[in-house]
Amino acid sequence: MAARTLEPTAAAQALLRDFEGRYDVGEAPPVPVERIASALLGLFVDEADDIRTLPGAPADQGRLSGMLDAEEMIVWVDRGEARRSPGRRRFTIAHEVGHFVLHVPVVHKLFPDRAVDIKEIDEGSSAAKLSKHRGREREANIFASELLMPEPLVRAQATATGFNLPALAKRFEVSVPAMRLRLRLLKLLPPLA
Ligand SMILES: [Zn+2]
Repeated sequence: MAARTLEPTAAAQALLRDFEGRYDVGEAPPVPVERIASALLGLFVDEADDIRTLPGAPADQGRLSGMLDAEEMIVWVDRGEARRSPGRRRFTIAHEVGHFVLHVPVVHKLFPDRAVDIKEIDEGSSAAKLSKHRGREREANIFASELLMPEPLVRAQATATGFNLPALAKRFEVSVPAMRLRLRLLKLLPPLA
C-alpha cells in the first residue's frame, strides 16, 4: 500500500495505482470499484432493503443510500437505489471506500450516508463554511469522482468518443450528471456544450 494521504484526489490516485500494480490490470474503463474494495481493501459490498434497520445504524436521519461499517468491513448500499441506477451504486461504493481510506483511522466506525451526503454532482462550496461532517462528505465525493473517473482515462476516452457525454457515462458506468461535472471540472466540455 502506498503511504496514507488524507488529500482525497491523491489518495484515490494512489489506490488505483496500487490496484493496477498488484493485479496487473489494464487501464481501461470502467474502473472495477467493487473489486478494488474487496480485493485490495478487504471490504465486502452488500445490499440492504433499508440500511436504517441494520445494527448500529441511525434510524433518525432519514433513509440511507449507503453506509460504511468499518468494524465489520462492510460497505452497505441501498438495494432499491442500486437497482434503479448501477452508476449510483458504483458512486456510493466509491464514496464509502473514500471514507475508509480517508477517515476511518481518525473518526469513527459507522458512516451512515443519506442521499444528500453522496453527491455525484457536488461542485463544492467554500471549505471554511463546511462543518466537519460536510467536509468529510465532500472529501469522500471528490475521492469517488477521482477513483471512478481518473483524469488520464477520461481525457483519452473523451477524445476517442468525440466528447460524447452519454457514451462516456456508459463507458465509465457512472451517471450522466456525474460525468458532465467531471468533464466540466477537467475543462473538457466543448465551449457550446
Ligand atoms: Zn459519506
